[in-house]
Amino acid sequence: MSTLVNSLSNLETYLKYFFGYDQFRPEQRKIIEKALADQDLLVIMPTGGGKSLCFQLPALLKPGLMIVISPLIALMQDQVDALQDNGIGATYLNSSLSFLEVQEREKQIFENKIKLLYVAPERLLGDRFQDFFHRLITQIGVSAFAIDEAHCVSEWGHDFRPEYRQLSQLRQQYPQIPIFAFTATATKRVQKDIIDQLKLHKPSVHLTSFNRPNLYYEIIPKEKRSYEQLLKFIKTLKGSGIIYCMSRKMVDEISDRLQEDGIKALPYHAGMGDENRRMNQTQFIRDEVRIIVATVAFGMGINKPDVRFVIHYDLPRNLESYYQESGRAGRDNEPAKCLLFFSFGDLKKIEYIIQQKAPSEQQKSRQQLRQIVDYSEGLACRRTIVLRYFGEDFSGNCGNCDNCCYPRPLEDWTIEAQKFLSCVARCKERFGMMHIIDVLRGSRKQKIEQYQHHLLSTYGIGKDRTLDEWKQLGVFLIHQGFLDETTDGYSILKLNAYSWEILRKQRNVTLAVKSKVKEKTDTRDNPRARDAELLFESLRSLRQRIAKSQGIAPYVVFGDSSLKLMAQSKPTTLEEFAAISGVGRYKLQQYGEQFVKEICTFCQQDDDGNGSA
Ligand code: ADP
Ligand code: ZN
Repeated sequence: MSTLVNSLSNLETYLKYFFGYDQFRPEQRKIIEKALADQDLLVIMPTGGGKSLCFQLPALLKPGLMIVISPLIALMQDQVDALQDNGIGATYLNSSLSFLEVQEREKQIFENKIKLLYVAPERLLGDRFQDFFHRLITQIGVSAFAIDEAHCVSEWGHDFRPEYRQLSQLRQQYPQIPIFAFTATATKRVQKDIIDQLKLHKPSVHLTSFNRPNLYYEIIPKEKRSYEQLLKFIKTLKGSGIIYCMSRKMVDEISDRLQEDGIKALPYHAGMGDENRRMNQTQFIRDEVRIIVATVAFGMGINKPDVRFVIHYDLPRNLESYYQESGRAGRDNEPAKCLLFFSFGDLKKIEYIIQQKAPSEQQKSRQQLRQIVDYSEGLACRRTIVLRYFGEDFSGNCGNCDNCCYPRPLEDWTIEAQKFLSCVARCKERFGMMHIIDVLRGSRKQKIEQYQHHLLSTYGIGKDRTLDEWKQLGVFLIHQGFLDETTDGYSILKLNAYSWEILRKQRNVTLAVKSKVKEKTDTRDNPRARDAELLFESLRSLRQRIAKSQGIAPYVVFGDSSLKLMAQSKPTTLEEFAAISGVGRYKLQQYGEQFVKEICTFCQQDDDGNGSA
């Protein structure tokens, strides 16, 4: 093979042969060329960007074996499963294996059957491994160290792991072996730290855009009956999804209610036993359950590429976490949705939590919350806002967020603002937002009568607007600085100079009102699209049956993108099937017949159906 390796023009051929893909993604090819030239690498790519391929293909083309360092057992196992299902010699060594299993794997390695060896960092530098390693270098040769999740070496990162620190010894001990570092972390500080810690030598640095064009971003104004609202959304969405909630209690509640409503959902949070958590996670990964309702404890180490939606039912902690968490959708580059439920009540809850923190931390937390609010309330393209946070300049219409697809019309809300502000004045600037809205809407709550507020001239003048609309206005006024709110824990509304300008008609208030998002056009109107959808579903269940019988995750068999292509082009011979992106030599041989048969049966039934109609 080594002669072929030298001709780089053949890289596409190898890509198809081993992985079944027709084309490299932008940057992948450049990175692979540098890797083949034995240069040190620092690759910064967002989740789903296709990092793995950048070391896996070179590992197959270079003499010797590549050592891949990965922080989590689940991640290792996942990647090794996927490689083995492409007929590639890959294995891992970690603390989950028995002594006999380790021996068996070491034997395979010395029989030259392994091209990629995954190890945990602490193992790599242990004494026992050193002997083995020495033999490995002399007898088989090590082509490179590929360090996945390389930001774990940095204390500046969000996921520092002390055992990663030891990796700085690699360069000293094995100066001749190239080091390839991979991360999805965007901050400059962490990037520099990776280079320093790992002692990378003149690394070739590849930074790709953090834009994920396949993700659709939308803010949903969270209504009072938020569960019903959530349920309605879920019923319109397809495929697997994650719902993030702020508390364990909420996780349990939402997953219970979804189950009662006939949706296959399971909870996941740190308060559950390890075993339970693992089971729920596995069922999700294997498509046995459609939805996982979780706290942010869920996600790290979840490699499921076909998550079709991530819903934040509560506000995320900050924009970076939001990008990471929502980014677990659509790693396979197929369309996926990131929805965030935004409400005034949640905002208050977080503000309250911030007030409980040490004064030194409050400022940073407030700033982070502010960024989330700006993101959620802004009229600009959501993608532009997120990318700006990562220092990227993306401006214009992205065509795939709610603000770009359904711009909100500006409406004149000056009269409503005047009603609101004068109600604040009549209540003598001694109450919070909920009370003001109660007065405006003519509530019969006891508190109102207790203060005699049912006698105010503003009592009941706002019945024509909903509670949510008034809240939207109130939050808007505060954020625009047109109204003050005390931050001493009581959140009392106070008028300021701008409030008086509005009351004196010297200033107008225009509010962008969220319009109803149009329903997606129904595929029933388009027989061809509907046909492809039906076939996709039956291929999906075939995939699941195969995966189940082999004890692997369905996406390891074929990704959603491959199934989609099959459903569209309906290959009915093995030759046609081989041309589908994602079908490599090994998968063709393993699964080709079953899939082609399924497609033929479908086409036949379809013909029969048409004939009799
Ligand atoms: P990352 O590690 O950067 O999060 P992965 O390496 O897991 O991303 O790749 C994400 C998905 O994209 C995987 O399903 C992978 O098989 C797929 N993929 C990677 N490269 C290509 C390519 N050139 N063509 C098609 N699919 C690809
Ligand atoms: Zn946009």
